[in-house]
Amino acid sequence: MTLEDVKSLIREIPDFPKEGIGFKDITPVLKDKDAFVFSIDMLADAVKDRNADLIAGPEARGFLFGAPLAYKMGLGFVPVRKPGKLPAETVNYQYELEYGVDSLEIHKDAISKGQRVIIVDDLLATGGTIYAAAKLIEELGGIVDCILFLTELTFLNGRKKLEGYDVISLIKF
Ligand code: IMP
Repeated sequence: MTLEDVKSLIREIPDFPKEGIGFKDITPVLKDKDAFVFSIDMLADAVKDRNADLIAGPEARGFLFGAPLAYKMGLGFVPVRKPGKLPAETVNYQYELEYGVDSLEIHKDAISKGQRVIIVDDLLATGGTIYAAAKLIEELGGIVDCILFLTELTFLNGRKKLEGYDVISLIKF
């Protein structure tokens, strides 16, 4: 298994969720036991020398990669969620999406001051989602150690939005 093999499993769905958008669908990677294990192993390898306290991931595909990564690294996992989903007290950050406006929330007590957090998601598009996640972590006094993606759509320039952060992606389109 190589990252090229994983890349070849990612399929493009035309006109989803809106006309004109070519949606990169990673579900075939999740379904393939070798590709899924390999992807998590490669994500873990990319951050093995980091000194992080926690993994955070945004709903929903950030959970799919973030939680197994946290398990593999022996770290805790913090969910970043759509509004109204988290039961305890939250902080909220509004952001612009590739297709609209949205906001994200994190539990106020999820991160302690000075804790180093690796943010993980399946895919970097415009960077709006992860920028919001980073701001939430910082609002709680956390430090964004680095930002890790399985996939990056380089033509959308998400890295520009995330300037100043260490951004790592394994597969580029
Ligand atoms: P961004 O905020 O524009 O970077 O969008 C990234 C978020 O939207 C991530 O949480 C992705 O899961 C999701 N997303 C945007 N475009 C795609 C895509 O083409 N394939 C899969 N997920 C996408």
